[in-house]
Formats: sequence, C-alpha cells, structure tokens
Amino acid sequence: MAHRPNRPLSPATKLAQALRYLDPATGAIVPQIQTAATYARDENYALRQSYMYRRDSNVTTEQAEAIIADLEGATESLLFSSGMGAATAVIEHLPADAHVVVPEVMYHGVLAQFKTYAAKNRLRVSTYPAGDLDAMKAATVESDTALVWVETPNNPNWDTTDIAAAAEIAHAAGAKLVTDCTGTPPCATRALELGADISFHSATKYLNGHSDVTAGVLSVRETGPYWDEIFHVRMIQGTVLHSFDAFLLIRGMRTLMLRYERATENALAVAQHFEGHPGIEKVMYPGLPSHPDHEIAKRQTGGLYGGMLSILVKGTEQTAIDVSRYCEVFYPATSLGGVESLIEHRKTVSGEGFPVHPRLLRLSIGIEDAGDLIADLEQALDRAGAATP
Ligand SMILES: *Cc1c(COP(=O)(O)O)cnc(C)c1O
Repeated sequence: MAHRPNRPLSPATKLAQALRYLDPATGAIVPQIQTAATYARDENYALRQSYMYRRDSNVTTEQAEAIIADLEGATESLLFSSGMGAATAVIEHLPADAHVVVPEVMYHGVLAQFKTYAAKNRLRVSTYPAGDLDAMKAATVESDTALVWVETPNNPNWDTTDIAAAAEIAHAAGAKLVTDCTGTPPCATRALELGADISFHSATKYLNGHSDVTAGVLSVRETGPYWDEIFHVRMIQGTVLHSFDAFLLIRGMRTLMLRYERATENALAVAQHFEGHPGIEKVMYPGLPSHPDHEIAKRQTGGLYGGMLSILVKGTEQTAIDVSRYCEVFYPATSLGGVESLIEHRKTVSGEGFPVHPRLLRLSIGIEDAGDLIADLEQALDRAGAATP
C-alpha cells in the first residue's frame, strides 16, 4: 500500500485499486504471489519479517485481507480456504458447552456444522425463525449465550434481518453477534458498522465473483484473546487461504462494485418481470417493494440488494426441477455471486431433512444481459408447463 490520499475514498475506488497496491521493491501495481512454504532465518537466527511457515500466513493473503478489512471498516480480517473453514473456526474457538443462537433456516452447511457440534455435546444450539427478533431474544435468555448467528439476506428465502437490532439483543445477553452477509458484500452492507462483532463472508461468492476460488473471511471490530484463538484454529487446521487463490481473489475484488451493481440491476429486472407471472406463485427478492423486509433491506444495503432471489414455481416439484433442467442460459449449478447466472432446485442440493419448499428455485443472477436471462426463464417455464394448470 502506498500514496493513499488522506481523505476517505469510496468502496469503488478502494476496490478498483486493490487498496492502491504498490510493491515497495519494484513499483509493481499488482501484488506478487508468494508461494514459499518456509522462510530462512537471518545470521542471528531471527525471522527476517513475521513469516515462518505457510500455514501461518503469506504476504499475498495478507494483502487480500487488508483490502477486505479496509472495506469492512475492520481492525483485522482473516482469510480461510473456504467459507466453511472460516465458519468452523468460529464454532471451534467456542468453549465446551457454549450456548449459541442460530436461524432455523440458513445456509445448509453452516447449520449442519452447528448441529454436528450439538450432537456431540460440544455446543448447545437454540434456533429462531430467520428475521424474527422476538424469537431471537427469547432464545438468548434461555441460557448464558456466547454467540448469536445472523444470516442476512437469509438462504434460500432471502428474509432480511435488522443487524443493528440483532446486535442490541446479542449484546444485552452478553453474546457476540456474527453476521453472514455473503449475499450483500461489504461494498453494500457494512455489518461491523451496524454492530456485528464478527463479519463472516463466503468470499467464494461475490467477493471473488468468478466461480474459480473457494475462500472465506472473518473481519472484526475488536481483536483480543478470542481472535487469537480463531487465528490459532486456522493455523492448526491449515485452512489459511493459499496465495494463488488470494491473488485471484484480489483480482476479482477489483471489479466487485461493477459486478455487484450489474447483478442488482439484472435481479431487479428479473424479479419485476416474473412477479405476478402465471407460471410463478411467488418471487422472493428483498429489492421488490412488495417484499415484507424491503425497508430494512433498503436501509442496510443502500439499495444494492444483490443478485440473489428465489422463485416458487407453480405445478409440482418435478415442474420446478424441469425448469432448472430446461434453462439454456442459466447454468444448473449450485453456488452464487459469480458473473454467470445459476439456477438450482434447492431441495435437491440441501438434501432431505432441510426445511426448504419443494418448488423453490434459487437464482444467482449474474452480469449477462437481463433480456437474455428473462427469455431463458420464460422458455423453460413454458416447456415445463408451469403456467398450465
Ligand atoms: C457459500 C456460503 C457459505 C459457505 O461458504 P463456502 O465458501 O462454500 O465454504 C456460507 N454462507 C453462505 C450464505 C453461503 O452462500
């Protein structure tokens, strides 16, 4: 980092310039990929810089962390080799028998991880319906709660939780608030400024944006012994993000603002087009004024609602599966936040036992032409017979 002006810069500028990166040795404006697994000590047997071994960290990953920390307004950020690696580090650092409060419907992998730890009597887990602050509050008074987990917008129904209100509830209970705002990256929602203690993102999604990296990040307002423990988990489990992937992530983040604005624009066009469509029972997108959480979403994202939405197809479960099979522009694939649009039958992907509507299709809207996306869904709905009673 070098020559940063002494005035606040907007996220678009910070991202495009990767924190105005400048290599001090060469003047290169793109970071190097440092692949070394180990580092030689000097003649006094001291480390030359802080680096000793790759499982600790490396300079490329630290540059990516600095960009995210700056965007989040965080004291520090740590990058992991996947979102699940980052989430697991949060779970793993909790003391035995800690009480946690989590949404009853959320990203299935994180929920499964909480349930696994509960089944082993490692944690006590209470749930609340996503977005329901009264239920969240009631769950925190059941016990001495250590952590409240919020996912907003929430998979796969895209309910929005008021982060500031959730922070008040968590803090009144003496708990830390962790937010998963993977659907609205920190160029839209700055969770730490709204009161979250730990901001989690699957950087696999919007932050990287090109479906060629898995990564997860944790960012915090305050460091302390708990943060040292989380770092320790990353080091011991070997889940630090590799420098190659950190390089790709930095490259991807340079266009985050553009990609995210375009995805929002496209998603809004798709949502508006299909709201009230004869083949569709419901469009779930917080950017629609008809969405029950629209006002919270507007406040929390500054109108950048992102590209994630779900539709309930009319007909049967098979009709919904057929719609995803018949798409020719959307890829029938899981994941989200990439430049290419994806469609998935969520129940097939989440597996049995996960509460998701059988006719729900989750769409990750990319940066293609909105007209092409709408036409593709139209022909798939038509072919699947969604509009024929
Ligand atoms: C993808 C995702 C995760 C998990 O991240 P990975 O990078 O796939 O391990 C967690 N939460 C949300 C909301 C996600 O979309």
